Amino acid sequence: MADDQMPRGSQCRELEMAIVGAGFAGLQMLHRALQSGRKAVLFEAGSGVGGTWYWNRYPGARVDLESLEYSLSFSKELEQDWEWSERYAGQAELERYLDHVTDRFGLRPHIRFDARIVAAHFDEQHHHWDLRTQSGEHIRAKYCVMATGLLSAPNRPDIAGRDDFNGVQVQTGLWPKQGVALEGRRVCVIGTGSSAVQCIPEIAKLASHLTVFQRTPVFAIPAHNRPMDPAEQASIKAEYARLRELEMQSLAGFISLKFMADPHPKNAAMKVSAEERKAEYDRRWAAGGLSFYNAFTDLLMSKEANDSLADYVRDRIRERVKDPVIAEKLVPKDYAILTKRLCADTGYYETYNRDNVTLVDLRETAIVRIEADGIRTADGRLHACDVLVWATGFDAMTGALDRIDIRGRDNRSIRDHWAGGLRTFAGLMCAGFPNMIFMNGPGSPSAFFAPIQLAEYQADWIERAVDALAARGLDCIEPTDEAEEEWVAHADAVAAHTLLPSTRSWYMGDNIPGKPRRILIYLGGFPAYRDACENGAANGYQKFRLGRAPASAGA
Ligand code: NAP
Repeated sequence: MADDQMPRGSQCRELEMAIVGAGFAGLQMLHRALQSGRKAVLFEAGSGVGGTWYWNRYPGARVDLESLEYSLSFSKELEQDWEWSERYAGQAELERYLDHVTDRFGLRPHIRFDARIVAAHFDEQHHHWDLRTQSGEHIRAKYCVMATGLLSAPNRPDIAGRDDFNGVQVQTGLWPKQGVALEGRRVCVIGTGSSAVQCIPEIAKLASHLTVFQRTPVFAIPAHNRPMDPAEQASIKAEYARLRELEMQSLAGFISLKFMADPHPKNAAMKVSAEERKAEYDRRWAAGGLSFYNAFTDLLMSKEANDSLADYVRDRIRERVKDPVIAEKLVPKDYAILTKRLCADTGYYETYNRDNVTLVDLRETAIVRIEADGIRTADGRLHACDVLVWATGFDAMTGALDRIDIRGRDNRSIRDHWAGGLRTFAGLMCAGFPNMIFMNGPGSPSAFFAPIQLAEYQADWIERAVDALAARGLDCIEPTDEAEEEWVAHADAVAAHTLLPSTRSWYMGDNIPGKPRRILIYLGGFPAYRDACENGAANGYQKFRLGRAPASAGA
């Protein structure tokens, strides 16, 4: 890259590995790289570690999987030592946990905070990446690991009049650290996805009035959060190795602790009687949380099976909402359950029984514009508002990457590479972007698996790849075009066997105007994914082109 394309700070840092993002994935990568003795630095846009759990501080933010599952597994001592206080940890506890991990493994001195990477350009002569931070610092790294998050680029819909609003506007995924005063205020929330389902009940308790603007209703299942039972925690810790193994074999990446004795679905929903089906759904409803993914083998494949679960949950929603007219607005009717992320809720539907909460169905009356004092809808009403909460989701999977000016060979941008639809090899790398490796990247199982455990496997894969290159005196790796094409075709074919493409969702890129429609996650499960990654690395990295920098070739 020419010097004039990449303004430099006072000095250029030379690294073997630059890691971007201090969430679960980036921290694991940093730990592995330092253990291997690499000169590695992690660059983080925020002022602290946490990633998702740093930025999403909205009221009610908590993980939707049980904490004993949603936790790091690379250190058996950490697994045993950390005591979770609730069944599902809240944002503050998760942030504390990652702070603890950062200090426990000596990672903090190797992290640069407030260092948002805004550009990454590949130098074809020297085979390194030139990175630039927002403040102009220049970093040169042989390998660049992007652990930038799967749901970390907030989506700000372009609704007319946004800038005319006189009150406070906040986005759930960028909730201010100092908090937002909600007590006694008139609050409007736009969106009813997982973030909204968590914050709406909490905001309703504080606001003088809450108005929720819903475009598409969601399916939510009671989480049944509760303080952690010490005996339960101890018994799971005694069996952690088995639990982790079961997670890795499961399609969803988690099994739900209540079902440890019976972790994987055995039956097809339509192969059992209606009574057995109902009993299975009742069992999972009583357990709380997202275990429905594991209820039957065919829920994501057969519309009939899927309808049986969707109808079950629809009836539960109707039971929870007193006003039948409002209940019907909250019941999803036009897409298959599980094809949008299932939500885990705490009092979500009951919130609509409160006197200080109004639901606006945008399919009946759309938002016309945002005005100084509130939101105007097509029926002419102005919904008065002091605080406007955008719970409008993320440019998922690709957004955190293509918002960075990433340029590979021939100065080609990642945006151009994906302009016709997502293309990667196994969500790990792209042809033409050598030595840049994604963790939980688009095209990997990520959001449809356990992102923490997936990152652990990927950190290991990356370490092995870098070592293998060094052992052969090479310094450059990228997937072949054929490997990329093969993976995309395989991922598309797997998705075509499921109901996911039938729904408009962020899994398919539908929530971002202009984003090409293609499945953004691999749905074949972790064992098949791991096989593909291992097969790619077999026979001297048969799915990759390996090389040595031209500038060092004669040396
Ligand atoms: P989301 O699921 O994409 O929901 C965004 C919401 O905003 C949807 O209801 C969407 O409606 C609405 N919306 C978007 N643009 C709009 C517009 N222009 N006008 C009106 N409504 C609009 O985003 P999210 O709730 O932040 O969740 C994203 C993902 O993050 C989840 O699926 C989950 O994987 C993860 N997450 C997890 C947790 C957890 O672990 N507990 C919590 C939060 C998020 P449409 O559906 O009609 O587009």
